[in-house]
Amino acid sequence: MTTGNRWRPAYVALGSNLDDPGARIVEAFGHLCRLPGCRLIAQSRCWRSTPLGPVEQPPFVNAVAGLLTVLSPADLLGSLQDIEATMGRARPIVRWGPRRIDLDLLLLGSEQLVGPGLTLPHPGLPVRDFVLYPLADIAPELWVPGLGRVRHLAAGVDNRGLVALGG
Ligand code: ATP
Ligand code: CA
Ligand code: CA
Repeated sequence: MTTGNRWRPAYVALGSNLDDPGARIVEAFGHLCRLPGCRLIAQSRCWRSTPLGPVEQPPFVNAVAGLLTVLSPADLLGSLQDIEATMGRARPIVRWGPRRIDLDLLLLGSEQLVGPGLTLPHPGLPVRDFVLYPLADIAPELWVPGLGRVRHLAAGVDNRGLVALGG
C-alpha cells in the first residue's frame, strides 16, 4: 500500500557484525537507494558498538538512513525484510544474536503503532546509543512522537563505548 503522492520522512537503523560489517552497511545503503517508493536522502556516519544481550559475539557497525517514502509502515518494513533476505540474513535467528544485516524501522512520519509485527517508534530507539548517535548525525532536531527531540534523547542515553568510524 502507498499513501499516494504523500512523501513522508522515515528513518531506518542498520546494523551488522558478520562478514565484513562495514561493507555490509555500504551494501545495505545501496539497496535502500534503489527501493521502490523511497528516496534515500541522508546517511549517518558508521559507528562501532558493543553488542547487546547475552550472546558472546563480535562488535557491530551501526548507521542510520533517512528516507522519504510513499509506502505504508507495513510495506516499508516488508521491503526492509526483503533486503535482509537478499543480503543473506537467515531466519529464524537468535534474538540479538550475530547477523550480516539488521534493518529496523525507527520512525515513519508521526506514526505511533503497537502491534506484534510492527511497533513505531521502534521500542529500542530511546534507550540505544547505537541508534540515537547515528540518528543525531542526520536529524538532531527531529521530534520523536511521544518521546522528544533526538539530540536530547542522545544526550540522555548511556554511551557504552560507541566509536565513530566516519563515512
Ligand atoms: P530489536 O527489534 O530489539 O532490535 P532484533 O532486531 O534482533 O531486535 P528481529 O529478529 O530483527 O529483532 O525482529 C523481530 C521482529 O520485530 C520482526 O519480525 C518484526 O516483525 C518486529 N518488529 C516490530 N517493530 C519493528 C520495527 N519498528 N522495525 C523492525 N522490526 C520490527
Ligand atoms: Ca534490531
Ligand atoms: Ca530487526
